[in-house]
This record gives sequence, C-alpha cells and structure tokens, in this order.
Amino acid sequence: MAIVCGKCKQEMKEVELKEYEFEDGIVLESVKAMRCPKGHVTFTEEQALLMETRTEDIRKHAFRFIRSISKSARSLVIRIPADLAKSLEISESSKVEMIPIGKKRFIVEIK
Ligand SMILES: [Zn+2]
Repeated sequence: MAIVCGKCKQEMKEVELKEYEFEDGIVLESVKAMRCPKGHVTFTEEQALLMETRTEDIRKHAFRFIRSISKSARSLVIRIPADLAKSLEISESSKVEMIPIGKKRFIVEIK
C-alpha cells in the first residue's frame, strides 16, 4: 500500500535518516522513515514504535550520576564514579579539558 505525503500528496518512499532526534537530547542513528520527493518526512506507526523502543533503551542504559562538590585547597573537586571512569577509560594520570557551556553546564573532554 502506497503512503502519500500529507502535505504535497506525492508518494512516499522508505528512506534511512542518518540521525533523528525522536526525543530531546537522545539522537538515534540510521532511522527508517518515509520521505516524499519534496523532502517531507513522516513515520509509519511501526517506524515510530521502533524509535520509541530504541529511545527507551538508550535512556535505560544511559549513565547518570549526581555528585556533591568538595573542596581541595583553592579548587573544587568533583569525584568521578568508578563505573564511569572505567567506561571512559580514564585514570589518575588522565588529562581532561573543561569547557563551560553557558551558566549551568560544562563539558569534560578527555585528552
Ligand atoms: Zn511532501
């Protein structure tokens, strides 16, 4: 059964999107979608369900840690949980770069 674009009434074909953010902050790769020749994109019920499952999976397995900050001399210290350190393959001698992103966030990039 052909799926017709709701905006331009042209026939849609199944394509694979490189990336799609089904939910805020969770980017899925290689997502199946329907696309018309004009580039409108929609999802079949099956495709949407699959994205939902994949998003849920990522959320379930994502690391999330909350830690208090302590003080050492004039600096502040954030402890890195052992599981996270292991997963990122960082240790005592690792070097990281801290990059502030606005007022409430910073990225810690492993060098
Ligand atoms: Zn269209």
